[in-house]
Amino acid sequence: AAITMADLEKVQVLGHGNGGTVYKVRHKRTSAIYALKVMHSDSEPNTRRQIFQEINILRRTDSPYVVKCHGVFDLPAGDMAILMEYMDRGTLESLMKSGVVFGEETIAKIAHQVVQGLEHIHARKITHRDLKPSNLLVDGKMRVKIADFGVSKIMCRTLDPCNSYVGTCAYMSPERFDPDTYGKDGTYNGYAGDIWSLGLTLLELFMGHFPYLPEGQRPDWATLMCAICFGEPPCLPATVSGEFRGFIECCLQKDSSKRWTASQLLSHPFLKNFRGC
Ligand code: ATP
Ligand code: MG
Repeated sequence: AAITMADLEKVQVLGHGNGGTVYKVRHKRTSAIYALKVMHSDSEPNTRRQIFQEINILRRTDSPYVVKCHGVFDLPAGDMAILMEYMDRGTLESLMKSGVVFGEETIAKIAHQVVQGLEHIHARKITHRDLKPSNLLVDGKMRVKIADFGVSKIMCRTLDPCNSYVGTCAYMSPERFDPDTYGKDGTYNGYAGDIWSLGLTLLELFMGHFPYLPEGQRPDWATLMCAICFGEPPCLPATVSGEFRGFIECCLQKDSSKRWTASQLLSHPFLKNFRGC
């Protein structure tokens, strides 16, 4: 039988995001644990659209590398909730901030899963548009899943310019800052944008801090945007394997047409070497 809100009890708050709060909840009868994302529709006119977008996307996806949706609830006052599978180790960002060091092999295992998740959504014409360590969830077996489709997009032939500037600027690809390409029909490739964010995310996990900034420094947005658009892309030190360096280079090509696709990355030696893990 379908799960209803009455079947669930709150255990604790897991975190707050843009426009919503995520709770750990328990199914009273089965004791199964889930994550419940409650979104307040009154806060912003855009929020309601984002909620429906996220629900729509989660319904279209079915992959071990994308967080699963178990139900959607209408709450009083127009609020809505999404019941998701619970990922017990939280996000890659929280792991990194708690001092976990990610070695090359771990990065390869993470990359392999995220790339498969991206391949899955891109094949369904969905772009995530906000890929970053805090939107990748982890469980006790180091299974990694893509979450938070609040600003994602189901690609269609024309882009909606009103809905273009979304996501965290820090992980945006250079072309997303360029008014000449962004938003014009056919010129902006959202799939390639996700690959850039993936490259930056993996680099951050390895370095332990955001690659464009020295450790502990807060971003000054104008400087950061200049670095992304006009500077060389960040890269790995010469001490890592050629495969790892090469993989990051394939993701962090400033020219989006030179960036590899998710399907191409799956056959990159960096991922192939760690297959079967
Ligand atoms: P933003 O809105 O900027 O993306 P966010 O990613 O923190 O912020 P949410 O996606 O709403 O926002 O998630 C809030 C927090 O709840 C996450 O950072 C994570 O710690 C936790 N969380 C979300 N979904 C799950 C889940 N399925 N299992 C376990 N924890 C989760
Ligand atoms: Mg998030």
